[in-house]
Amino acid sequence: MILRPFDPWKSQLCTCPAKLSLNPYTGCPHGCLYCYASSYIPRFAQCRPKADLLRRLARESSKIRPGTLVALSNSSDPYPPQEEELQLTRGCLQILKERDLCAQVVTKSHLVARDADLLSKMRACVAITITSLSESICQRLEPGAPSPAERLDAMAKLSERGVAVSARIDPIIPGINDAEIEQLAAAVSRAGSRHITSSTFKARPGNMKKIISAFPQEGATLESLFARGNKIAGSGYLPEEMRRDLMQRVKESAGREALTFSTCREGWAGVLGISCDGSHLLSAVEKLEHNPLFL
Ligand code: SF4
Repeated sequence: MILRPFDPWKSQLCTCPAKLSLNPYTGCPHGCLYCYASSYIPRFAQCRPKADLLRRLARESSKIRPGTLVALSNSSDPYPPQEEELQLTRGCLQILKERDLCAQVVTKSHLVARDADLLSKMRACVAITITSLSESICQRLEPGAPSPAERLDAMAKLSERGVAVSARIDPIIPGINDAEIEQLAAAVSRAGSRHITSSTFKARPGNMKKIISAFPQEGATLESLFARGNKIAGSGYLPEEMRRDLMQRVKESAGREALTFSTCREGWAGVLGISCDGSHLLSAVEKLEHNPLFL
């Protein structure tokens, strides 16, 4: 199936609303050091399009109730460089639009702005991840991803066209990007974002090793912080008090900009009362909790 119920390992920590997940590509070229998906998808760095994607999506989506929320993408970026030529994600959006399904796009690429024409005419929201305003930090942390300036520019272009845009300031990694929280919130607000989703870095053996090797000066402190934190669902979490302080800072920064705010996978379900994924920016999303996903 190309459309699957979004189910991040049945984790109690996920507070996302019920939705479907669609990954036009397998793997991702952005090379983010903190990536979780790279640990369970083979040949992850070799991004490849899903076979027969558009025909399968057209067939499967005809059985989905209009208004259902479809997230692109949860374990890859829907706008890798080859999307510029292949236009597969654009083709998916066209099909979702024809079926009157809601699209929730999550990306780190400025390429999403190309599809502003389409996104502005359908029920869609776009979340753009931005972790730092510093080109040099981003080059080390997300070596294959577009620059922060390009992402902010895409945010502005989409919001100018009336597309509901949110920012994922995610993850916050102490010693690497936590000093920029306030500036990041102000920058995404200026670019037209209406919501911020944030979370703290969750350590797994693979991603922690990559971060320590790219940021050796910060590595020792980071290791000792995680040694004092908890292990939740196979991931290392920072000490609870530190996580609360960091998220409180993002919340206050979002509040100063009159943006809504939520956390992701911190284990504080219901505290904030809005969608953790920015889907509240969409009006009239079909509530799936009590409905079958498929007609
Ligand atoms: S963009 Fe997302 S899926 Fe791609 S490498 Fe970065 S964290 Fe992983």
